[in-house]
Amino acid sequence: MSLEHDPRYAVNLNELYKQVLMDHFARPRNKGRLDEADFTVHLENPTCGDTIEVQLKVRDGRVEEVRWQGHGCSISMASASMTTQAIKGKTLAEAAQFLSRCRAMIKGEPGDYKELGELQALSGVAKFPVRVKCATLAWNAVEEGLKRVQP
Ligand code: ZN
Repeated sequence: MSLEHDPRYAVNLNELYKQVLMDHFARPRNKGRLDEADFTVHLENPTCGDTIEVQLKVRDGRVEEVRWQGHGCSISMASASMTTQAIKGKTLAEAAQFLSRCRAMIKGEPGDYKELGELQALSGVAKFPVRVKCATLAWNAVEEGLKRVQP
């Protein structure tokens, strides 16, 4: 039985996830602007009022640099911070695969999501459809950008 599914650990795990989210919200990674970006995607989540702009620089089929800025709730901002951190250095295919695993997790599909690292902290959001839009805003922006750079 994995830690996630052992009820004895459920409370501690939720607490841990909350701490991860609050840490990224308080100290966002990769926040800012790139001087030379290959693309910039701006998206909004009107349900919650979150806005985000993601910039990527791709070299040799790999995400060389990624920055984001925006404002909104802690879930949308923490997701942007964690997502940009996770995809930096990945190939375009790896980044796309990573995001599709994130989506499976947030849909509540059973499985092992250890490879998603800190993004597992968003797994609890699956129960709240309104918050899913907050969590996926950064993913949508990155995916939109990856589509543009792919030949
Ligand atoms: Zn939100």
